[in-house]
Amino acid sequence: MTMAKLKILRDGDTALRLKSRPVTEINSRIHTLLDDMTETMRAADGCGLAAPQVGVLRRVVVIECEPGRVLELINPVIVERRGAQHELEGCLSVPGRQGYTDRPAYVRVEAENRGGERVTYEGEGLLARCFCHELDHLDGILYIDHAEMVTEDD
Ligand code: ZN
Repeated sequence: MTMAKLKILRDGDTALRLKSRPVTEINSRIHTLLDDMTETMRAADGCGLAAPQVGVLRRVVVIECEPGRVLELINPVIVERRGAQHELEGCLSVPGRQGYTDRPAYVRVEAENRGGERVTYEGEGLLARCFCHELDHLDGILYIDHAEMVTEDD
């Protein structure tokens, strides 16, 4: 399996502000995209990456909050949120900056995996933040839109 590192788009790129389209057919192109996104996320030392961040406007996300446990989500939807947390967040598309966001403490996410099967994930703490952050990317939302930034603008 050959994996390729992709270019991560930076804030200011219009692709980051568009709504991504659902995946209608999970084929080898989507498998390659998932592999390349994981490679790219790891190379950038991130814990999540959404397809629009690499210029692909499809509803695809990879997350690795626990090293070695990569979650691949196709057409993900948050179906339940509970509680609240206020924690520091960053984004590979907004390098060098951090800010506090309000997120649910717990979320439940439904998606499809690379085999086209329905999967459900539950996340608390960092994983809940990660799900919310990455799914927002699919709707063109960046965390800096609603964060209390603790770093100066470039
Ligand atoms: Zn991000």
